[in-house]
Amino acid sequence: MTEITTHSEALNAMHSLHHGGSTGLEEIEMGATRIQVDDKRIINCHADLNQLVPFKYEWAWKKYLDACANHWMPQEINMSADLALWKSLDGLTEDERLIIVRNLGFFSTADSLVANNLVLAVYRHITNPECRQYLLRQAFEEALHTHAYQYVIESLGLNEAEVFNMYREIPSVARKSVWALKYTQSLGDPTFQTGTPENDRRLLRDLIAFYVVFEGIFFYVGFTQILSMGRRNKMAGTSEQFQYILRDESMHLNFGIDVINQIKIENPHLWNAEMQQEAITMIKEGVALEYQYAIDTMPRGILGMNAEMFKEYLHFIANRRLAQIGLSEQYPGAQNPFPWMSEVLDLKKEKNFFETRVIEYQTGGTLSWDEED
Ligand code: FE
Repeated sequence: MTEITTHSEALNAMHSLHHGGSTGLEEIEMGATRIQVDDKRIINCHADLNQLVPFKYEWAWKKYLDACANHWMPQEINMSADLALWKSLDGLTEDERLIIVRNLGFFSTADSLVANNLVLAVYRHITNPECRQYLLRQAFEEALHTHAYQYVIESLGLNEAEVFNMYREIPSVARKSVWALKYTQSLGDPTFQTGTPENDRRLLRDLIAFYVVFEGIFFYVGFTQILSMGRRNKMAGTSEQFQYILRDESMHLNFGIDVINQIKIENPHLWNAEMQQEAITMIKEGVALEYQYAIDTMPRGILGMNAEMFKEYLHFIANRRLAQIGLSEQYPGAQNPFPWMSEVLDLKKEKNFFETRVIEYQTGGTLSWDEED
């Protein structure tokens, strides 16, 4: 018979017959043993989820604080120059208009997909209060992003139904969403539970699909196209909205990578050769889909960019994503053809939004910014 020596072993033994973890909505057990740091686990944790501290995952709490310090609102960005340019007869080429409308079409529903995946699928299975605290903040940021696209669409007087339906009507906009959605479907099933290697890998796959591929690859062609317009002083308000969104997204990506890596550390059996190969395949599929999106949104080279440069950029980004989750680079020697994207991302150097409009939001200390692209 196995001897139970620690508190967490006792807890695990108590719950060993159950799959999955706690939800935080179980009945309150009066006088139950106090939660210790060692009882915390990122998935399949059976300890009380309503006890934020003591922290086990300091990185999650730090990201929560940093995200709060980054607070912004879409309607604080002036859109009048964008409207004037949009209405002008010769201010924008047809190719530029296509880029703007297609990207609004993709992003207006993409951030909503991410939010729904977080709230209806991922949240239930991440059994740690400090990570959930960040997920709640991230969910609000996804709402802000959808709000930002809505605000741009309204400011420019675009056809709302047309833009919000593009992911059902325009193949290049739809493909990426369709690819990501298949990973969230089983997780969103209310009867789905983690706790078996097969189901835990399903959660891991969803996290890789949404954090590494969707937010970490599928956003990058569109962001680069819109930000490149902003650099040329075209659609400056729209570009500024995208800059703030991109800053949030970089943190979402970094948080997701920390979660994925923490799951791997605590559950090394999940990360076998087959799972690793599957992750590589998913990232490669993501690169192919995003490259196709670059071609579809930009049939001719414009703004000093062309589809070939995007291929190189996507390979460069994919190498980083692979390395971030401990996989080997699949595109040797890929370089970043848009080094300015790294500079644009550092908003502290570019333009100090927080010193002008929303200084009152910045209460959480300095922004730590370690992601470059
Ligand atoms: Fe996001």
